Amino acid sequence: MDKKSCPLCNGTETSFWRTLTYGSKLLICSLCDLHFVSPYPSLDQEFYDQNYYRSWGMINNVLPEHVKILKEKNMRKHVKHVAKFISKGDVLEVGCAMGSFLKVALEEGFNVTGIDLSLQACEIAKKENPDARVVQGTLGTVRFEPESFDVIFMSDLIEHIPDPSLFWEEICKLLKNNGIICMVTPDPRHWSCMLMGNSWLHFKEEHLVFFPKYTVNWVCQKFGLNFIEFSHIVKYTDLAYFSAQTKQFGPESLALGISMLSRILPQKMEEILFPMPLGEARYILRKIVYSKEI
Ligand SMILES: [Zn+2]
Repeated sequence: MDKKSCPLCNGTETSFWRTLTYGSKLLICSLCDLHFVSPYPSLDQEFYDQNYYRSWGMINNVLPEHVKILKEKNMRKHVKHVAKFISKGDVLEVGCAMGSFLKVALEEGFNVTGIDLSLQACEIAKKENPDARVVQGTLGTVRFEPESFDVIFMSDLIEHIPDPSLFWEEICKLLKNNGIICMVTPDPRHWSCMLMGNSWLHFKEEHLVFFPKYTVNWVCQKFGLNFIEFSHIVKYTDLAYFSAQTKQFGPESLALGISMLSRILPQKMEEILFPMPLGEARYILRKIVYSKEI
């Protein structure tokens, strides 16, 4: 699909930013500042079912223990942060993958629901978290009760959504008044992107749209949300996981360097967690309550 108009605001005035290594252009919308790929590469359901979690080091549907630990450590930071705004209630994670967030949100005392496109991921998430409700599908195919969630969480998700306008409409409908959205997504205006250019880790074929701060502000005004907080975050990773990621997504020179380092380090050292600024931002947004009083 060759997208000439902005998939978020429908604006037709765009500027060219760069050509990505796989051939698509990255355009910037002059109205809402959304950075979007044009044309979108064609990715089907199979892509998310079969290949997607190879980069997580998954073998025969089993995630290595060190990957579980690092995923949960990263998610725990977000859950603790969300709990500062809303400490109990119903949480929906959109794009729940294998359920690391669901697990720590359950431990924190929330009622949790997860939805994911990948059947394989949903099966693992459900097995790991029997107390969670896990549903396979998208917000377009699964009908949840309107205004039924206190918190909607999404990490590394919105950049995969081909129709972000419809998506925002759907999640705002599902959120209760005063509810919180916590979103983690790559920020194309982060210094790591300026530094790495086309080798930026987030320029993957499946990342279609990027939301810098200005765009999220635009979303808030359009959909009746309060912009509460914006911060750049660091993610914990380990050498073994980072190596699997760079092998699949590049850049090749970095993958080669890490692979050489891995060969000389003992395995235990490869699994030591360290924080990495990978260019992601976390946004906290709140649905505004409209007072009926004059
Ligand atoms: Zn736009």
